[in-house]
Amino acid sequence: MKLIRFGPPGQERPGVIFPDGSWRDASAFTPDYTGEFFGTDGPARLARWVAQQGSALPAIPPSTRLGSPVPRPTKIVCIGLNFTDHAKESGMAIPTEPILFFKSTSALTGPNDGLELPRGSVKTDWEIELAVIVGKQVRYVSEAEAPSHVAGYCLHNDYSERAFQLERGGQWVKGKSCDTFAPLGPFLATPDEIADVNALRMWLKVNGQTKQDGTTANLAFKVPFLISYISQFMTLEPGDVISTGTPAGVGLGFKPPQYLKAGDVVELGIAGLGEQRQVVRPAT
Ligand code: ZN
Repeated sequence: MKLIRFGPPGQERPGVIFPDGSWRDASAFTPDYTGEFFGTDGPARLARWVAQQGSALPAIPPSTRLGSPVPRPTKIVCIGLNFTDHAKESGMAIPTEPILFFKSTSALTGPNDGLELPRGSVKTDWEIELAVIVGKQVRYVSEAEAPSHVAGYCLHNDYSERAFQLERGGQWVKGKSCDTFAPLGPFLATPDEIADVNALRMWLKVNGQTKQDGTTANLAFKVPFLISYISQFMTLEPGDVISTGTPAGVGLGFKPPQYLKAGDVVELGIAGLGEQRQVVRPAT
């Protein structure tokens, strides 16, 4: 099943995408895709309800804005340097243990809402990533048990202001957390929708030119290991987002580096997880 949230920012309602591609309103089943929804087998309950309702479910006009497929989570946990080629272009080695960092949950935005350059930004960069949405509370889970705690997968662009991230002292969080820096969606795909999460092509273009062209096959640390690993340090709550790292081709890796400016258009997609489009606008 594919879950969407639609409507104006802050007023999104839950919906689903039918196999024929039509968008349908599911707000009669649940007010939103909250942590409580995921933590109580919401997707399975919703699937049964949707099957009963069938084409009686109200259609959503395709011009409707999509929000993030999940509302604001308790945390967005990101993995750094999880692709060999990206570590190399960044001049760093693949770490022996995953690098974890947080991204502010207020950075979350819809897949096509656009990117707002933060004030003073000169090095805003893109990072296509596979995001995992946590289904059940996770604490000290084994790698073998980890897959049963996944609610689904989403496309994510882990926007990063490199000067804020790397030249302003302290943690990476400064360069990762600006408003609009976490476009998620267009939909959440439940695990049954994805035949092999370790074989998904991922691509990103800026102004029509391909910058990133990779595959989740090259993830150094795979999803079950990452969930198990993170759960040794913190409790993952239903609805939390884990972003698993980006392949080569970020702006930082070009010589000279390439960064975004107002008017640029960023397009990206992961096989089976849809596409996003962001127009870059100036700081306000
Ligand atoms: Zn990243």
